[in-house]
Amino acid sequence: MLQVHTIVAGYGVIEALHGVDLSVAEHEAVTLVGPNGAGKSTLFGVISGLLRPWSGQVVFDGHDVTRWSAQRRALAGLTLVPEGRRVFAGLTVEENLRLGAYRRARGKDVTARVAEVFDLFPRLAERRRQGAGLLSGGEQQMLAIGRALMGRPRLLLLDEPSLGLAPLAVREVAGALTQLVRAGVTVALVEQNAAVAFGVAARGYLLDRGEIVADGPVEELRDDPRVHEVYLGES
Ligand code: ATP
Repeated sequence: MLQVHTIVAGYGVIEALHGVDLSVAEHEAVTLVGPNGAGKSTLFGVISGLLRPWSGQVVFDGHDVTRWSAQRRALAGLTLVPEGRRVFAGLTVEENLRLGAYRRARGKDVTARVAEVFDLFPRLAERRRQGAGLLSGGEQQMLAIGRALMGRPRLLLLDEPSLGLAPLAVREVAGALTQLVRAGVTVALVEQNAAVAFGVAARGYLLDRGEIVADGPVEELRDDPRVHEVYLGES
């Protein structure tokens, strides 16, 4: 579904990615791990269209999308949930979800999608009329993911969904992501929390200083000493 070919990208004169290859198959859940500053967010920026690569190619669903805007990619089903839970605090849970639908979607379709998101995240259904600002951190993250799902993405890119959450909320978000994958959504995940990364994804890539230095099934990756180094100090 997604193929990233020899991506070179950076900021100003700083080259942050030195020729990265990565692929995600339909219905697959893939994780991208690596130390701070490795280039994970940069790569997600290139894939989602927020950052133009210096060279290389991003192919989504058979189309070369390298020069497509982020909005055009999102309309084609390639959606990024950026780092940090960005919800509209003054609106209710349901209003936040409805805002996630495309303008051209019909009211009936939007209502059906809201119901799908509530099926996936019953906690959000219970709080549908509550202000989003009153939700816990984990619930806000679920809402941010739910809002992205309103566009019926074919590939969801998640940048650090567990960042800054309390341990219980981390488990809840991990559970929600696992359900999402079971429901057939294709997922690519950047995650600092090893339990989440390796619990949700089946396959992973280790990015270090702008290069992929290891990749394979998570069972193999989690035993790789270089991966241990990244997660040093974590459980
Ligand atoms: P983290 O986990 O800390 O977010 P990361 O793996 O996502 O790290 P990136 O944020 O992609 O890494 O950063 C890759 C490199 O690019 C780093 O050296 C970083 O300092 C640099 N960089 C990132 N964003 C910018 C920017 N807007 N301007 C200049 N340099 C940047």
